[in-house]
Amino acid sequence: MEYHRRLHRAGYLALHWPREWGGAGAGVVEQAIYQDEVLRLGLPTYGANQFAIDRIGPTLMLFGSEAQKKRFLPAMLTAKEIWCQAYSEPNAGSDLANLQTRASLEGDHFLVNGQKVWISLAHRADWQLLLVRTDLKAPKRQGISCLLVDMRSPGITVRPLVQMTGESKFNEVYYDNVRVPKTNLLGALNDGWRVSIATLMFQRLSAATRHPLERRTHELIKLAKRSNFAGIAAHQHPYIRQQLAQLAAEAQCLKLTRYRVLTSQLKGKARGPETSLGKLFASELQVRLAAFACELLGPWAAVEGGENYGQEWVQRMLGAREYTIAGGTSEIQRNIIGERVLGLPKS
Ligand SMILES: Cc1cc2nc3c(=O)[nH]c(=O)nc-3n(C[C@H](O)[C@H](O)[C@H](O)COP(=O)(O)OP(=O)(O)OC[C@H]3O[C@@H](n4cnc5c(N)ncnc54)[C@H](O)[C@@H]3O)c2cc1C
Repeated sequence: MEYHRRLHRAGYLALHWPREWGGAGAGVVEQAIYQDEVLRLGLPTYGANQFAIDRIGPTLMLFGSEAQKKRFLPAMLTAKEIWCQAYSEPNAGSDLANLQTRASLEGDHFLVNGQKVWISLAHRADWQLLLVRTDLKAPKRQGISCLLVDMRSPGITVRPLVQMTGESKFNEVYYDNVRVPKTNLLGALNDGWRVSIATLMFQRLSAATRHPLERRTHELIKLAKRSNFAGIAAHQHPYIRQQLAQLAAEAQCLKLTRYRVLTSQLKGKARGPETSLGKLFASELQVRLAAFACELLGPWAAVEGGENYGQEWVQRMLGAREYTIAGGTSEIQRNIIGERVLGLPKS
């Protein structure tokens, strides 16, 4: 929290937010420079309220009423109110439009019933951005709305899920006749699909730029210098050298692709489905980097303590998978790239 406050005081927390709402109003180049420096130093970008700052706040700016913006944006910046994003359900992940959590309009409030799953930070959040079905008869995407929901509302139950890393970062969330004021509808009734597309686009953009991949390749090189592989110093083994060169080249490619997108933005082109390309490549590269570190370490990967051991890399290897799933799986990103970037026919 202290890091968050310091970022905020220094004006770095919400570089991409307009000044009107307490951000720095920085251009895309300033944002990219800041991002590169933060990654180089291995620091987190967004502080304690990441989802609010990187995607929920910007979504609220696009779809919220003036009253909603005034009420919610300042407390996102100070992290007085922590936010989570409640979209996925047991039968609605990749096929998000299939969501079944129901909200019926009863006078001046909605009554919400259903279940969400995999909701990061729900156990610590004060508010959530909730996708619900508000029209059962309309085609799937046209019957969805988005609500701003107080996590302390009676009828909400949060159950943490344990990940294979041993951490509990996401949760099941149950809704039993939860009352949500009608004034907390974000955007128009039954227009929640458009809201969700905007949030996911902001999320993928953040996922593509948030991982310190170059820094990790430098750490791998250091690791190779103090490890043995197949009986010789690892950094002198041809296989290891080749793998290191490959991973370092891929990290560079990702950075240069980011710069290319930046250039086209500076020429006035809007960000589009190519954010999927960055998200896909960054998250898959994370997995390859961590897996290679474990290969390099061999059995030492499983030993705790001391700088020659590899526990942190094992944690990274187990944790890296999550980025290939959250915000849309790698397969879904490939579908988006195939259909909307390359213009291939739908499968
Ligand atoms: C660490 C983590 C944090 C998360 N945080 C949140 C959160 O805060 N809020 C939230 O709402 N959700 C969150 N999620 C959920 C995440 O968005 C979903 O897990 C994701 O969208 C995939 O949905 P699913 O788990 O239902 O898998 P499914 O959709 O059931 O997919 C199962 C498999 O089938 C493949 N598949 C599905 N459809 C297709 C297709 N059309 N073509 C090719 N392959 C396909 C998928 O790629 C996957 O391999 C989080 C997930 C993770 C792992």
